[in-house]
Amino acid sequence: MERPYDVTVIGGGPGGLAAALKADEAGAHVLLIEREARLGGILKQCIHDGFGLIRYGERLSGPEYVERFTDSFRQRTIACLLQTFVTAIDQRKDGFLLTVVNAHGVMEYRTKTIVLATGCRERTARQVAIHGTRPAGIFTAGTAQHLVNLSGQMPTKRCVILGSGDIGLIMARRLTLEGAEVAGVYEVKPEPSGLRRNIAQCLEDYDIPLHLSQTVTRVFGDSRLEAVEVARVDSSMRPVPGTEKIIGCDALILSVGLIPENEIAETLKVPMDRGTKGPVCNSDFMTCVPGVFSCGNALHVSDLVDYVSESGELAGAAAACYRPEADCKEDVPLLPDGSLQYIVPQKINVHDGKETVLYFRSRETVTDGTFVIEVDGKELFVKHYRNLRPPEMERIKVDFSGSGLREDARITVRIRQKEGAR
Ligand SMILES: Cc1cc2nc3c(=O)[nH]c(=O)nc-3n(C[C@H](O)[C@H](O)[C@H](O)COP(=O)(O)OP(=O)(O)OC[C@H]3O[C@@H](n4cnc5c(N)ncnc54)[C@H](O)[C@@H]3O)c2cc1C
Repeated sequence: MERPYDVTVIGGGPGGLAAALKADEAGAHVLLIEREARLGGILKQCIHDGFGLIRYGERLSGPEYVERFTDSFRQRTIACLLQTFVTAIDQRKDGFLLTVVNAHGVMEYRTKTIVLATGCRERTARQVAIHGTRPAGIFTAGTAQHLVNLSGQMPTKRCVILGSGDIGLIMARRLTLEGAEVAGVYEVKPEPSGLRRNIAQCLEDYDIPLHLSQTVTRVFGDSRLEAVEVARVDSSMRPVPGTEKIIGCDALILSVGLIPENEIAETLKVPMDRGTKGPVCNSDFMTCVPGVFSCGNALHVSDLVDYVSESGELAGAAAACYRPEADCKEDVPLLPDGSLQYIVPQKINVHDGKETVLYFRSRETVTDGTFVIEVDGKELFVKHYRNLRPPEMERIKVDFSGSGLREDARITVRIRQKEGAR
């Protein structure tokens, strides 16, 4: 058996590539495992621009953005297994034993640490309750994106899009540019789920109607979709009888949410956060299983890839420096109140001598809100936001080192709303 790796990264998207590069830069012996034939993750199919604005100050396409990482990855000759699946991970005294399978057969690799960078997957038709038949023509937005951008096939001539998530908005524009008619985007919530810039650039610029507080209630068609029924919903998101309308279309494109992909984490019994559906981790992006790190969309769904790369770099660098004697018991939980959907990382190490990167989402739209972190009742960090919206993830850096953090400290996090503002 080969000498053990210091860091094994599972997933070769932007998160995993950033983690592998940083771990290699820190002098670690690194292996990256990817199940697909090419590195780059989901960005291979995201041919529109807008990637890298924060990191590079440039508007890159997905493939252009990720090429910057794959180029460095190849130059550094980091060990990489493509078209390879991890079938089992056993925890050992000195690390982990990975069993993988690929065209060469079944192999085993030893590693001191693991970085989980497995990305996320889309919610499918089976996860949203729509009545009717199950004809062909119901796609997730990502599948439609794959068909149009990578396979050169048009999945529709006239479609309805359910959900106003970013991928659905991007596909509304893409399908319109390719000659399809998008009859409308239907969103069950009273507010769009996607970024404001995507509402403007993908719908408003192309006169594609967005119908809020409306949903698809039924599909029609035998072998192929022929129409969908849409209806208004009440404040509890229940369809309002009498408001139904039938729309003729040959495809229903679903953009109804992304779920972090964490099957491997679950086999390792990594505790999960119900808010993010990703692992609970500390300020080194280490999960509660020592030696197992998490980053990118596997950790929590980011709306910008720039932050996926950042979390990958932080996790990769920390994995490279990991010492088994590091004790997770010295992690103090952050206690968000109901004003936040979530905050990541969820724990701070008492010995953290550096600024900690934190990502959070508000639960509701807030105007004139103040984000506050208190340690034992004393304000440590305060930031004012003119607007906070659940679809727009926020990123901050907080220095906990001056707060004299102890293991029994109580760190509370909340968004204080200005009186009368909403
Ligand atoms: C369909 C879709 C379209 C998107 N479009 C956009 C967009 O247009 N703009 C935008 O900003 N963001 C978009 N996103 C968000 C995008 O996912 C992130 O910006 C970014 O790609 C996440 O990087 P990642 O490395 O965490 O995950 P991914 O890019 O998803 O990479 C994860 C990688 O892990 C591999 N993997 C997973 N499980 C295993 C395993 N068990 N073994 C080996 N390898 C494994 C996968 O094959 C994949 O290559 C999209 C997401 C999805 C799902």
